Amino acid sequence: SRKFFVGGNWKMNGDKKSLGELIQTMNGAKVDPNVDVVCGAPAIYLDFARSHLDAKFGVAAQNCYKVPKGAFTGEISPAMIKDCGVNWVILGHSERRHVFGESDELIGQKTAHALESGLGVIACIGEKLDEREGGITEKVVFAQTKVIADNVKDWSKVVLAYEPVWAIGTGKTATPQQVNKNECISDLSFVRFSSVTGGTCKELASQKDVDGFLVGGASLKPEFVEIINAKM
Ligand code: 13P
Repeated sequence: SRKFFVGGNWKMNGDKKSLGELIQTMNGAKVDPNVDVVCGAPAIYLDFARSHLDAKFGVAAQNCYKVPKGAFTGEISPAMIKDCGVNWVILGHSERRHVFGESDELIGQKTAHALESGLGVIACIGEKLDEREGGITEKVVFAQTKVIADNVKDWSKVVLAYEPVWAIGTGKTATPQQVNKNECISDLSFVRFSSVTGGTCKELASQKDVDGFLVGGASLKPEFVEIINAKM
């Protein structure tokens, strides 16, 4: 099985002062050496995060575009991300899908280009509450996963993050039972789970189908260190 993976997604939060303090806390903490840790920074702070975070922590962009350069005002390319020393990008986050209207197809194209450019991809999938209640969780998640999978040749560069949209930023963490296969999604070879806190991380980390987390709110707080160390 793969190394336990803990991603932090700072989303559009923080400033140099508060992120600098978080980075100091992380750099000074004793962290489990058997965990891959990657922090998703706002684009404008990628350089800042990379130059201040200890090298043992990875940094991710939260989005990128599907081509290397050109007249695409406001977008950033994988080449620019790599130029900042950053090796990861989060793609298909539910906020990109549902706030900014990104389609499965666009996320597939971005995945292909990011991987071709040499970035690792944290690819997010997950159903909305009405989809879960409508009994179409598997259909939605399968379709999301298929366009990603169709664009992946080397899975060693991809982390698939299952984030049920109803559990994002709501304080509603899926129960440990819901996290296991069949309750949410079946037949995926590796799944990392989202929306955890210092209080829930140990029990979730011990579930058989969980081999990591993608953390939002709690990744901005000192408790992120506890989450990194959930398996210790
Ligand atoms: P929360 O951990 O804040 O619920 O967010 C999860 C998430 O969206 C991570 O990408």
